[in-house]
Amino acid sequence: MALKLADVRTDLHNDWCSGCGDFGIEASLQMALTEMNVDIHRVVIFSGIGCHGKIVHWTNAFGIHTLHGRTLPFAQGAKLANPGLEVIAISGDGDGYGIGAGHFVHSGRRNVDMTYIVHDNGVYGLTKGQASPTQKLGEQTKSLPQPNINSAVNPIMLALAAGYTFIARSYAFDNRHLKDTIKRAVAHRGLALVDVLQPCPTYNDIETKAFYSGEDRPDPSTHRPVPRVYDIEKTGYNPLITTDMTNEDVDKKTLEVIRISNEWGDRIPVGVFYQNENVPTYEDRIMRRVPFYLDQPPATQQIQLQNKKSAVDLSSLLKELTIGG
Ligand code: SF4
Repeated sequence: MALKLADVRTDLHNDWCSGCGDFGIEASLQMALTEMNVDIHRVVIFSGIGCHGKIVHWTNAFGIHTLHGRTLPFAQGAKLANPGLEVIAISGDGDGYGIGAGHFVHSGRRNVDMTYIVHDNGVYGLTKGQASPTQKLGEQTKSLPQPNINSAVNPIMLALAAGYTFIARSYAFDNRHLKDTIKRAVAHRGLALVDVLQPCPTYNDIETKAFYSGEDRPDPSTHRPVPRVYDIEKTGYNPLITTDMTNEDVDKKTLEVIRISNEWGDRIPVGVFYQNENVPTYEDRIMRRVPFYLDQPPATQQIQLQNKKSAVDLSSLLKELTIGG
């Protein structure tokens, strides 16, 4: 049965600040869920700590609000225990690229078949606007007493280096682009990152909605905004890595991703930067060792016998571990 927006929204009170880009991400995710023809009972959304984390409370799918920086291990665990689930992990930029940076890197190496959406607003919004890992060196948002002393990470390059096989960026207030990007990320076979540029009007007065949409620099003759955000795929860019490409072709594409992803200021690229479905997923790798894995994943294995006893006999292990036994 086709889902409607009312089916994927909860009626809990939403308490993000007025004008927050989180609203655009929530709406785009929910629109994507209605269009993907998924069984909503097989969708699980994980979030971390930060303003973004509330998205699981307001989306009517199974959801787990996890710990700071730990969204990815929770989500990967669920997907590997039950590969039939559609798993979507969600973080903020502080959560995902700061405290969760180690998990971010090692998740890329595994390539579990799931989607990771990051609300990227350049600040730690939930804790009063400290500079996050994506805030630029020397930038001073209204929440900082002095300019940011650290350089920013580039999430696209970090994901490329770590081995993500689908790497995209979108913008919170371009619902159509973000919804379509989320649908493509979910359809991708492997780990997909969608970094979402998200205004935080309460603490970040530099990367604002007016900044991204160009309302702060209208064309002098037409008085219309000249958007900074532009879609790289509308310029003819093709993100696909195909099996017939030579190593030289792949190197060229990689350099192009690096070059485009470093663009910032007058023009800010969004779209799918890189997509490679030729890398085996973690599930493929397990199947080589445990051929029945997909038919009998951990979540469906019998754990109790009819006589209510455990299906696994741990007595010899417990005996071995008993001190002084
Ligand atoms: Fe949104 Fe910023 Fe408010 Fe958090 S602090 S809800 S990110 S506007």
